[in-house]
Amino acid sequence: MARATVVPGFIDAHNHLSIAAFAPDCVDCATPPKSSLTEVLEAIEQHCKHAPPGQWVRGMGFNMFHVREMRNPTRGELDEVAPHNPVFLIDASCHAGFVNSLALDRVGIDEHAPDPAGGEIERDKAGVPTGTLLENAANPLHSASWNAYAERDWDHSVQLLNAKMREYLAVGITFVGDAMVTAKSAELYRRADAQGMLPFGVQMLHAGDHFFDTHDLRRSDIIDRIKQPGSDRLIGGTMKIFVDRAYPGPAIDKMHNGCCAHTGVAFYPKTEVGRLAKKAVELGIGTAIHGMGNCAVNTVMDAYESSRSGRSSDAVLRLEHAFVAEPRQAPRMAQLGIDLVANPGLAGLWGELFNLWRGDGQDHLRVFPVKSMADEGVRVSLASDHPCGTFSPVEIIATAVNRKSLKGTPIDPEEAIAPAEALRMYTINAAHASGLAGQQGSIEVGKRANLVVLDRDIVTCPHEQIGLARVTATYVDGICIHSL
Ligand SMILES: [Zn+2]
Repeated sequence: MARATVVPGFIDAHNHLSIAAFAPDCVDCATPPKSSLTEVLEAIEQHCKHAPPGQWVRGMGFNMFHVREMRNPTRGELDEVAPHNPVFLIDASCHAGFVNSLALDRVGIDEHAPDPAGGEIERDKAGVPTGTLLENAANPLHSASWNAYAERDWDHSVQLLNAKMREYLAVGITFVGDAMVTAKSAELYRRADAQGMLPFGVQMLHAGDHFFDTHDLRRSDIIDRIKQPGSDRLIGGTMKIFVDRAYPGPAIDKMHNGCCAHTGVAFYPKTEVGRLAKKAVELGIGTAIHGMGNCAVNTVMDAYESSRSGRSSDAVLRLEHAFVAEPRQAPRMAQLGIDLVANPGLAGLWGELFNLWRGDGQDHLRVFPVKSMADEGVRVSLASDHPCGTFSPVEIIATAVNRKSLKGTPIDPEEAIAPAEALRMYTINAAHASGLAGQQGSIEVGKRANLVVLDRDIVTCPHEQIGLARVTATYVDGICIHSL
């Protein structure tokens, strides 16, 4: 008889399902397997040949660190391969986009357009936009292209969402948090829910009007969207705030010539993050705050500390990422009761970049300091951040245990965790971060029977075999809805 192991259903508390769902209709620009910019441009050209003129085309998965040319495409190159379609090639980080002239025209960006707060329109020497848009500057392109895809045919969009969720079920995911939901993506979820097309639960972490938008909690439409009652399968009530940016680098303290200098850029002044956190408490809204670098992590901790009064003791205080942070930040994080939603699986595709962010001799900083945080009592969850990385929980657990990039580079191996700990982080801890510790995350009487059957015991098998584990069955609410 074949051996099998049953574990609680995996909870991917930080995922971008509403972006990933459209991948089948987008140009697959994933690097790897593509290894050159030429291949990426060819794929876009082929796709555009079959797209109706004028229709938005999105490309996904491109990461310049994995192409031979080690650079992003130019506006001219995209014009050449896509003369009749506005093209938005999303950087694999989702923090930048590369576009052609038609796309810039569609959203009214020309040489006179000012840089938006929290973003940059890259320009050549003559001041003409190069087609590279960083952070908030890519917002209108993200929105225009995503909305165009979603609204083309809502029923088809619901089918795509459902199909992506079935892919998640096949790797054992039985709950996701979508870490960036706009008004339009909330509409997609509501339509899917009304049609019974959500095969498992989804938590919406609401952004502002756009992808990385700054939140305005004076606006009733945004408050109403966040607080709109959900259902058995669709949960709202939480807002997402971005503190620091991936480009030109997160808010990290770096040593320069012996002195500690703050590099990187933040979306908000510190006081504004605190003000938003306080307002959220008043409104009864949950918060998930994105902070990648150690400076941003401090800002998040300050915000949670200053917004303490009036908050219920069981409120979930989420910090997303902490990619490059300090072990000495852990005690305060634990004391504040923060849930750290970490993504060590991103070491696979991005490990070398994070090592660069930290820089030589920056020993006070660690990349994905998961073990340091957990050892000090911080409740750490593992999450994919897909499509920025793989969505397979066993692959992410393997990376958290083995601490190597896809190219084999060690990524702060002293932060490796034991498989059993990684499993807890992907189940019961992630349930807590999602506000669901009473309902999910463990196999207990009274909880939902969300279960995963694996073909091996990932806690005891050799570490190099963890990522090879296959999910043979997935149960949601006691019903087997995926099996091999
Ligand atoms: Zn994310």
